[in-house]
Amino acid sequence: MVSVNLDQDKCKGLECGECIDICPMEIFQFEGDKVTINHPEECIDCKVCLDICPNDCISVKG
Ligand code: SF4
Ligand code: SF4
Repeated sequence: MVSVNLDQDKCKGLECGECIDICPMEIFQFEGDKVTINHPEECIDCKVCLDICPNDCISVKG
């Protein structure tokens, strides 16, 4: 199974949200002012979130 992790200390949260917009599987969502990871088992390992994140806070391991 693919695992998806997000470093909350680096994430820009409400100022950004790029990963939420780009993920085709809707793995990321806002919860308050934080970005959380949901149903990571549905991640298709496309890695577009890694390319778009300005702060390098996402890791995807297949
Ligand atoms: S690798 Fe693709 S499917 Fe997985 S969390 Fe990133 S954007 Fe979403
Ligand atoms: S793209 Fe990166 S910095 Fe932006 S909300 Fe997502 S995890 Fe946070």
